[in-house]
Amino acid sequence: MGGGPAGTLVATVLARSGVDVIQAVGASPNVRPREILGPAARRLLAKEGMAEWEEQAVPCRGVLSAWASAEPEFHDYELTGCTAGLAVSRGSLHAALAGQAIQSGARVLEPAMVKPRQDLARAGAPIEISTGAESTWVVPRTVVDATGRQNQANAAVTRTHLDRLMAFWTPFERERHQDCLLLESSSAGWWYVPPSAGRHTDLVCLTDLDLVPTETAERQEWFAAQFATCTLLPGIAAANPSFASLHGTDARSSTLSSVTHDRWVAVGDTALALDPLSGKGAYLALSGANAFCSALRAGDGSTAAYESWWRRTSDQELAARAAVYSDGYKRFPGAPFWQRRTAMK
Ligand SMILES: Cc1cc2nc3c(=O)[nH]c(=O)nc-3n(C[C@H](O)[C@H](O)[C@H](O)COP(=O)(O)OP(=O)(O)OC[C@H]3O[C@@H](n4cnc5c(N)ncnc54)[C@H](O)[C@@H]3O)c2cc1C
Repeated sequence: MGGGPAGTLVATVLARSGVDVIQAVGASPNVRPREILGPAARRLLAKEGMAEWEEQAVPCRGVLSAWASAEPEFHDYELTGCTAGLAVSRGSLHAALAGQAIQSGARVLEPAMVKPRQDLARAGAPIEISTGAESTWVVPRTVVDATGRQNQANAAVTRTHLDRLMAFWTPFERERHQDCLLLESSSAGWWYVPPSAGRHTDLVCLTDLDLVPTETAERQEWFAAQFATCTLLPGIAAANPSFASLHGTDARSSTLSSVTHDRWVAVGDTALALDPLSGKGAYLALSGANAFCSALRAGDGSTAAYESWWRRTSDQELAARAAVYSDGYKRFPGAPFWQRRTAMK
């Protein structure tokens, strides 16, 4: 279930090793700002022989940030990871990956939604996949749920949200640093600008939904006032950004009570939805998918090795999240956005 990096890696790797795979790929993802595939994600895709190149990919040399202080710092991907990152649009990345799954022999149904409120976990229970006007029924031995952070396909496991983070974005024109990801903290959240082929890109603000005014004009003023307090981004903007019509998407971090339940197993964001600040969502989605495939191919049918990967990785990533937010908190002591996160651990 799912056509993102996690679902497609599982479909590709298992089909290649002779497993009969049906991959149900939901409708194309909404238009979103470009995401970064860092050096580690690029290496993992290359190792699995999966094309990661896509038509509109833009190189990302590194991250220029004003985080713990107003003084900018540069994290150089080429120096630390031996290769540049890539800024990719989700839609075309998913499309490029789907080609790999088909070549590997997976039966890819697209667009195809696994209908909600079905018994995905019980062995032998049929599953209905809606493919447009028609439905297909399958009785799989294993159900791999890679439907992403917004889905709750298996009601028997509990999802715990760790925050109320939301990503808002608006068009942005910049004068320089087109080949870098720009990152900056402010008192009510943090901002980033992904690399772009030209001057036009997006300005993205991550903040907690309850901190944002609900009334439109007030909300517009609130974002403009927050942006005005930044030190790095306004100096790079070709013009003042407009906050009149913002787009938004769920960016909450969350984790599950368990990633396996009878024949059902969760991978990728379904299993562990990281804060976008980590910049490692795609990499960990791929790594988890890989860990699951290795556990399954080990032969005894047990996914215990995958479960222990997931527990270990969750602990490490949540500790890293608390540490990075602690650095930001030093810059904005007492600000609720930062206090909430540093008080967590
Ligand atoms: C604002 C924001 C910015 C981010 N920036 C970055 C970044 O720069 N770098 C990075 O590495 N990560 C980033 N991430 C995280 C990254 O997007 C995810 O970690 C990654 O896409 C997870 O891959 P996935 O395969 O688990 O899920 P997804 O990529 O979310 O894919 C889920 C798939 O499931 C399908 N689906 C959903 N429901 C069903 C259903 N019922 N039946 C069938 N299919 C279904 C969807 O259509 C989709 O194809 C960001 C996240 C956010 C929110």
